[in-house]
Amino acid sequence: MKLVILGAPGAGKGTIAKLLSAVDGSVQISTGDILRGAIEAGSELGRRAQAYMNRGELVPDALMMEVMEARLQQADCENGFLLDGFPRTIPQAQALHQLFDKLGIALDCALNIEVPRQVVLERLTTRRTCENPACQEIYNIKSKPPAREGVCDQCGGTVAQRDDETEAAISRRLQTYAEKTAPLVGFYRQRGLLLTTRSTSSEEVVEAVTGRLGSAR
Ligand code: AMP
Repeated sequence: MKLVILGAPGAGKGTIAKLLSAVDGSVQISTGDILRGAIEAGSELGRRAQAYMNRGELVPDALMMEVMEARLQQADCENGFLLDGFPRTIPQAQALHQLFDKLGIALDCALNIEVPRQVVLERLTTRRTCENPACQEIYNIKSKPPAREGVCDQCGGTVAQRDDETEAAISRRLQTYAEKTAPLVGFYRQRGLLLTTRSTSSEEVVEAVTGRLGSAR
């Protein structure tokens, strides 16, 4: 599968990407995870991205394109990829499609996960994430708490609230989504690549994607 996954913060992009990855081994590429890993590792990329992220703003397009250009040429992308959180602006989408042309890649579709604002707000304020950059497992204090409070079931790392999941940063991220990322829905619709789902059930979303790709092949 070669997919772009669109959706507001908290829409469930990461959860869906993990489930789709289990279907056929397509690799999940989360730019948020890459950036958080870079901050944790204290790399140059992390230093350049951190202030934007903590404010709930987007990291500049040019920097994100450098990250993606390198990532998409890694060998594990050959069998398919699920772009989770990228592109996030029209210029990123335009640059991505130029890169696809250069690399001879054809996108299967852009999955747009629409979830009501109330659901997204509730999910984001109750979300907790494993701080181990190699893990980043996601929990929810109401629906999926770790067995031991604050400790990751998968790797034993610390489970905590992300710096950009304070109320102020969340409302900024949702506003940024509406202004900068939502226009991508029209971008992909025009290209005949859009698949919108309004389901809050992950299984139904996965079925919608496999159904669409199955009938397209
Ligand atoms: P996420 O985990 O996808 O919600 O991303 C967390 C934060 O990382 C975002 O609020 C942005 O600051 C930054 N980020 C992730 N992906 C991108 C992107 N494609 N373009 C710009 N900033 C991004």
